[in-house]
Amino acid sequence: MASLYGLSRDEIVSRLSLEKAFQADQILSWLVKGVTDWDDMTNLPSKLRERCKSEGINTISSRVVDRQEDRNAVKLLVELEDSSLVECVMLSDKTGRKTACISSQVGCAMGCSFCKTGTMGLIRNLEDYEIIEQMVHIRSLDPSTGHIVFMGMGEPLNNLGALMRAVTWFHNPRLMNISYKKMTISTCGVVSGIRSLAELDLGIRLAVSLVSADDETRSRIMKVNRRWPLDELKKALLSFQHTQEKRITLEYCLLKGVNTGSKSAKDLAHFMSGLSAIVNLIPWNPVEGLEYESPSAEEIRKFTNDLDHLHVNYTLRMPKGRNISGACGQLATSTRRKTSLSGDGE
Ligand code: SF4
Repeated sequence: MASLYGLSRDEIVSRLSLEKAFQADQILSWLVKGVTDWDDMTNLPSKLRERCKSEGINTISSRVVDRQEDRNAVKLLVELEDSSLVECVMLSDKTGRKTACISSQVGCAMGCSFCKTGTMGLIRNLEDYEIIEQMVHIRSLDPSTGHIVFMGMGEPLNNLGALMRAVTWFHNPRLMNISYKKMTISTCGVVSGIRSLAELDLGIRLAVSLVSADDETRSRIMKVNRRWPLDELKKALLSFQHTQEKRITLEYCLLKGVNTGSKSAKDLAHFMSGLSAIVNLIPWNPVEGLEYESPSAEEIRKFTNDLDHLHVNYTLRMPKGRNISGACGQLATSTRRKTSLSGDGE
């Protein structure tokens, strides 16, 4: 493994055969700041730095190979040590708050039909250090980035072990010290993972990509619903809420003519009854080759009117990063893909 990210103090002592344990703390504090070159770790003895270099000990396994920017978002293309590519995005809101949107897998097995990542299929899970390093790359753009959403490429709850190790590393007060409530895991509705997350009882936030509250429509759009239909999803959310006492976010990607009618609004209101949840309405971000369209302003207005009458708690979010394909559902490594991954011809 070519990274020191994700390792504990003791693991670094052992990996580097350090004679003095406090040197592991010094190394960790450099790593948290994004300093990964041994020469720049100036408080370490030069003998130690030279030894680490001569033994070829890498501190970080990935590198940024492309960057695109628009007004509210910066998207980074990150190359991993096996040449796989993942994307992560730094999002800025009106107040200047920065949020990192981080990937958990290369590609995704879930195949949601509105999502570009879903067209890739699953290539592999990310290791904990590959998840952590995305945050390090994003913090090199702005060290104040203090919120994380696991909403990039992949289904985070299908890679729960690595995800939790990364989350714990982010949370560690001696490391990035990011509170759990500033981290949000976004799932397409993997009920087994939601239940595991509830048992861990960390206080981490949960978002669910709902898209439709009608089983037939949702099963057509999202394969996950065939495995875990809406009543099972709702039971899992209720039990998550029972232990976590946190409001859940329901992501509702607006698809023209698919999930914006009056019946869809009623189904959504019905699904939300008994849940403490807010709906994020996000007009679909166009993805080349996918069959959907974004709804018109009039279609959105009618749908939100229906939701108002039904007293549904929602926010309408216009997508950030759409111009750089960095918005929700648009991430996929199309800039430079290994030949073996290029089944879709990109
Ligand atoms: S929406 Fe999420 S879970 Fe569904 S295919 Fe895309 S990345 Fe995977």
